[in-house]
Amino acid sequence: MSERAEVPVYEGSCQCGAVRFTARTRLEAPFQCNCSRCRRLNAVMHSVPGDDFTLLSGGEALKIYRFNSHTIAHQFCTQCGIQPFAAGSDRAGNTVHVINVHCLDEPRYDKNAISHFNGADF
Ligand SMILES: [Zn+2]
Repeated sequence: MSERAEVPVYEGSCQCGAVRFTARTRLEAPFQCNCSRCRRLNAVMHSVPGDDFTLLSGGEALKIYRFNSHTIAHQFCTQCGIQPFAAGSDRAGNTVHVINVHCLDEPRYDKNAISHFNGADF
């Protein structure tokens, strides 16, 4: 079995279920951000490389919201208003999905592992 196959696959959705996705990841680096959007959402997030994220359904229900530097595509469901993930890119230009951990069907993670990202100063 390859190392990648041992990484768990989480399934998640928006509230109404129109948007569903999977993320192959270990939830080892959850974080919260204090920017003007994240502090309002109070979301716990986790970054997943583009190849390890799959949108299963609901692409047509998603609306993209951008602010500040416009580099991150915040994506929310136009039916229920929940933001299950955002998409951006790392320094090398690779796509990264930042998932809203609480949108996972079974969000098992260590709350003590949550780090704090100072997005307010970006
Ligand atoms: Zn929805």
